[in-house]
Amino acid sequence: MAPEPTALTQPAPIDEFPGDPSNWALFLDLDGTLIDIAAAPDAVRVPVDLGPLLGLVSRHLNGAVAIVTGRLLSDLDALFAPLRLPAAGLHGMEWRIRGDAEITVAQAENVDAVRGAVAKIAASRPGVLLEDKGKALALHYRHAPEQQADLTQEIGILLASHPALKALPGKMVLEIKPAEVSKYTAVRQLMRHPPFLGRVPVFVGDDVTDQDGFRAALEAGGLAVAVAERPDEAASLTLAAPMAVRDWLARLAKRLEQEIAPEAQARGASI
Ligand SMILES: [Mg+2]
Repeated sequence: MAPEPTALTQPAPIDEFPGDPSNWALFLDLDGTLIDIAAAPDAVRVPVDLGPLLGLVSRHLNGAVAIVTGRLLSDLDALFAPLRLPAAGLHGMEWRIRGDAEITVAQAENVDAVRGAVAKIAASRPGVLLEDKGKALALHYRHAPEQQADLTQEIGILLASHPALKALPGKMVLEIKPAEVSKYTAVRQLMRHPPFLGRVPVFVGDDVTDQDGFRAALEAGGLAVAVAERPDEAASLTLAAPMAVRDWLARLAKRLEQEIAPEAQARGASI
């Protein structure tokens, strides 16, 4: 049995940046991780200082900061304009290794075969909103949470005859997408190329779909950072909310700056 905690057995303070953070490759979910979830996907607000903060961390990590989201990359770019980061969109269906690189689209089963049926299901359920992302479909039920069980069951029955497609449960959303791509495949894809290649992957996320990203990071010897109100035992570190993630990133930027500054001074002195 574990001893009762006393003044002598206080847990050691958690290291927020274990290992060598200057060698990290950072993979960040967006909604619920960097920004607060809103009533509808297009109603989110991006804090004005978030883009500059991500740009700063990215510079310190030699460009190895990527957003890994369920959104379309075009949607992501509109939210962060003029900043463009490396990113994976649609839960791994599309990705780019640099902000100015072309988008690669995964060759995978598409959702065309079920689009009509999913639209009908959404229309028959008041409060359920269909977001058609082209290569993925999202059913939002934030306005009708009582629909969750029936909706999940109905989509499950529909997808039983489409084994190449999968319904991913998220926070008040059911995402229908090809089964073979995920945030796991997204992280693996990005890690194959510079500036990610050879770095330690650190995945930060808040939702069920982020578990795939956590797995990819942990398998590669990296870290999983959960965004949750209560500590996630499977994660290396838990941050309480998007605001705490942004504060953590700001502290990371400072820490990286301190590590880089002496090196830069040393370089300057040797010229
Ligand atoms: Mg999220």
